[in-house]
Amino acid sequence: MILRFICLAGVLMTSTFSSAADDVIRTPFGKTKEGEAVDIFTLQNSKGMKVRLITFGATIQSIEVPDNKGKMADVIVGFDTLEGFLTEHPYFGGTIGRVCNRIGNAKFSLDGKEYTLAANNGPHSLHGGKKGFDRKNWTAESFITTIDRGVRFTRTSPDGEEGYPGNVRLGVTFTLTNDNALRIEYDAITDKSTPINLTNHAYFNLAGSGNGTILDHQIMINATQQTATDETLIPTGKLAPVAGTPIDFTKSAKIGERIKEIKATPIGYDHNYVLEASSKDLKAPAAVVREPNSGRVMEVYTTEPGLQFYTGNFLDGTIKGKKGATYNQYNGFCLESQHYPDSVNKKEFPSTILKPGEKFSSTTTYKFLAVAE
Ligand code: BGC
Repeated sequence: MILRFICLAGVLMTSTFSSAADDVIRTPFGKTKEGEAVDIFTLQNSKGMKVRLITFGATIQSIEVPDNKGKMADVIVGFDTLEGFLTEHPYFGGTIGRVCNRIGNAKFSLDGKEYTLAANNGPHSLHGGKKGFDRKNWTAESFITTIDRGVRFTRTSPDGEEGYPGNVRLGVTFTLTNDNALRIEYDAITDKSTPINLTNHAYFNLAGSGNGTILDHQIMINATQQTATDETLIPTGKLAPVAGTPIDFTKSAKIGERIKEIKATPIGYDHNYVLEASSKDLKAPAAVVREPNSGRVMEVYTTEPGLQFYTGNFLDGTIKGKKGATYNQYNGFCLESQHYPDSVNKKEFPSTILKPGEKFSSTTTYKFLAVAE
């Protein structure tokens, strides 16, 4: 029996364990180009589900979950080594900030001052800029309680980082529970008003990473509206009903069934859904995805008002990933919980401004099940 003392949010906790498997293990994962040490944490719950997280980008490296026969597979698209994560890649598994998704024309005004950001997506800012939170090495502490285990990543985003105002103290806490859920809790405080919108950019393939496309997965999204956009994916400020369009997933349907009807280049889903009130406060799933062959199911719960459904439209076979697999279009999907894109320039959308003295907090949970065919 091992006795542990851990300190979480200032509270000293004691827990006892009889199994070494039900644990958190920290090991070196390599060094960044600047020579910073990157670590990888392996979390395992009482059911054998495993999650690996790395300090570079506070990134989800892998999630191993059973199918309906108990066979485990890693459902996260990404890399086996740090070298992969250090290359240019489309945000595999990373924590995205200070503002996820797009800011129109890479500009916003706050308290009478105009701020200009790097334009890294045509004229727009995408996912926090040139070196967003997903490209920073975070400080990390693991914790274990009597019921779960996890890792808390922290860092300070300095005033002026990527053009944003204010020193922002950030925390991202990942908790693996014994009911096969990975909970992500974000928190932040600032010393100047600043926009903040945090998400995780994991690409999932419930058949297992590298096991073909996600077009046969069935998805339900609890949303009757989306934020309408122009062709560069900047919201117009209007909400549009999904009924009668190929993006309506209020009833579970195959991702591939109507994908070719999407008018976009490249073709695929890349839409922000306006979640129904029933999903607020983590009460009902914001989305449920099922892979028919394995029976693996993922439920997404979030306190956020929006969910970006992205089907890996830009994956083009140029990236070599886990076990040498090449990632092609539709080899993974993302469900990015968020405030609506370009909220900082849209007075009609729920605000993303964090002010000094306030605390930002947001929770998203990915829960895994397996059902018979
Ligand atoms: C965006 C896509 C973008 C992708 C980058 C998604 O969140 O909505 O438009 O291409 O991230 O991997």
